[in-house]
Amino acid sequence: MHALLVEDDDRMAQALGTALAQRGHTVRRVARALDALRHTREAEFVLLDLGLPDLDGIELLRRLRRVCGAPLIVVTARCEERDIVQGLRAGADDYVVKPFRMAELMARIDTVRRRTDARAGLPGPGDPSGEGAGIRIVRRGDAEVDLAARTVTVGGAEVRLTRREFDVLAHLAARPDEVHSRAEILDRIWGDAFLAASRSLDVHVAGIRAKTGRSGLVRTVRGFGYQLGPER
Ligand code: CA
Repeated sequence: MHALLVEDDDRMAQALGTALAQRGHTVRRVARALDALRHTREAEFVLLDLGLPDLDGIELLRRLRRVCGAPLIVVTARCEERDIVQGLRAGADDYVVKPFRMAELMARIDTVRRRTDARAGLPGPGDPSGEGAGIRIVRRGDAEVDLAARTVTVGGAEVRLTRREFDVLAHLAARPDEVHSRAEILDRIWGDAFLAASRSLDVHVAGIRAKTGRSGLVRTVRGFGYQLGPER
């Protein structure tokens, strides 16, 4: 994944950059708050030092949160409870105090990413813009569901689903560990849980399976509903 590292200390930036690269991440490091704001679009997660030369880190955090839905972890020497609470309230997903153990920070990054991935998904009725969702790609075998771009590819080739077929697939992909009841899916996608007896949901699932050619992409939970197929 692509990390935005906001850190004005060269040695710290070097150490973090190396650790992130070792775990397969690409990194853009910036030393100033204003540069951070310029590079939010590409970031899939953000590590943010609060002591920056050009802007208070908490103020930067608030501004980042307005334009960037990616998971954000504060990594700072500020260790007072007041600072930590302020950071979390300003929108940080986690808060790590320097000096820290690198392995612990890397584990926290994974945890925050898992949590924000699970929280993402379709914009709800009160959140039509989908604000808060970053870039989300869910993979099953050679099938990829890109929740942000609303695209599905199989073996790298795009599969054209109808809007509603995509909505159903994205709903399952956003929370792949959960089994979703028919009523929940119908309520969420059709806006009417009482359609539960109708066959339209099954028709859409059949469409997803047929068009992707990956029948295992959606798993039927007999008598209850559907789930995204298992990882293999
Ligand atoms: Ca600093």
